[in-house]
Amino acid sequence: MAIDFMNPYDMAVAQFDEAADRLGLSQAMRAILRKPKRELIVNFPVRMDNGDVEMFTGYRVQHNINRGPAKGGIRFSPEVSLDEVRALAMWMTWKCAVVGIPFGGAKGGVICDPHKLSRAELERLSRRYATEISILIGPDSDIPAPDMNTNPQIMAWMMDTFSMHMGYSIPAVITGKPLAIGGSEGRLEATARGVQFVTREAMLDLGMLPEDCSVVVQGFGNVGSISARLLRELGCKVVAVSDISGGVYNAHGIDIHRALRYSKEHGSLRGLPETESISNAELLELPCDILVPAALENQITAKNASRIKARLVVEAANGPTTPEADRILIDRGVMIVPDILANAGGVTVSYFEWVQDLQRFFWAEHEINDRLESIITRAYRAVRAKADEQDTNLRMGAYLLAVARVAEATEIRGVYP
Ligand code: NAD
Repeated sequence: MAIDFMNPYDMAVAQFDEAADRLGLSQAMRAILRKPKRELIVNFPVRMDNGDVEMFTGYRVQHNINRGPAKGGIRFSPEVSLDEVRALAMWMTWKCAVVGIPFGGAKGGVICDPHKLSRAELERLSRRYATEISILIGPDSDIPAPDMNTNPQIMAWMMDTFSMHMGYSIPAVITGKPLAIGGSEGRLEATARGVQFVTREAMLDLGMLPEDCSVVVQGFGNVGSISARLLRELGCKVVAVSDISGGVYNAHGIDIHRALRYSKEHGSLRGLPETESISNAELLELPCDILVPAALENQITAKNASRIKARLVVEAANGPTTPEADRILIDRGVMIVPDILANAGGVTVSYFEWVQDLQRFFWAEHEINDRLESIITRAYRAVRAKADEQDTNLRMGAYLLAVARVAEATEIRGVYP
């Protein structure tokens, strides 16, 4: 583990504490909002293809459900920990509040390396994990979605498992499903589309023209690859992209469609023609106008923050910047669009999917994208206005709005009994 690694939950609490100080929250309210409401740890067996039984550990954490049912993705990764899931759940609470959708925050994870599992093993693991957390999830209580290393097929297996237990189909228990079983148009691209909208707004604020901007994207999965494509469509030049195997760079620009085809065929970006291979660490420090971390936490730290060249950082990933790095970047005049705003497009269209499933009435893709655009740009403008009014940065502006909304709901509901 890197020396500059910061425990994500400590990071989330430090960000919350700063907002709580500025808002003057009472000690009682701080104590309530600092801790997750529920934490479930599950240890469960999965039969492997060779007949052996292996044990896996998973988590589901609900941080706060005062504004609505819990909502948050499920991550499969060898590095998942309870503290990481706690942090991601807390960030979900603020994210839903900052865009004003009626959900609380949750997150789930299973410690596993999905790349080492066969499709049949992955299905058995997904179905068993869904069964184990079924004491918490449900269309009115807690609605999971995809995150790192999970996808629409895995959501389909989980929705099917939950439905089998109940004896009838309950599509609204999970979002990010395939279209054929109650998924929403536009969900696959939703997080990246939100990234595109906030980047466009931030560029306007900074007086940057897309055609003059070069972009570097870390992570080439659902969020990173589609963000790269949509920022290119906005008119920017994408000069570097990366995945877990490393980065590829071409100062004259990378053809994203070609990179997508290559990555699909070869399983990674390594060796993409007409590009230079670089490490993920080098990628973050490349000369560029806009940096989009879209992989995982703890990427921009006190160690590399002073060498980041971008003027604008758009946090497509959750928690990519440590609080110390945040201060260094802000002191250097770098503008950061924080994760709880920048990647909120995903949960916004998940909300649309849930509403469509509950109503059994589906919307056209242009309706989804138009509503998403209006919610994300309105949230960006509100965050910008709050930051200006309080003479602070966009992250604190977003936290001040979000934490105040969650605290208000918590206060009005009161302390039970
Ligand atoms: P994904 O699994 O589709 O893709 C992850 C990408 O990151 C892959 O290209 C992978 O190779 C790369 N990666 C993994 N480890 C890396 C490392 N150490 N260095 C560099 N690259 C690495 O996941 P995703 O859904 O695109 O999620 C990416 C980020 O976006 C996560 O932080 C996630 O929480 C956040 N996010 C996702 C959604 C969503 O709707 N999927 C919504 C909001 C936020």
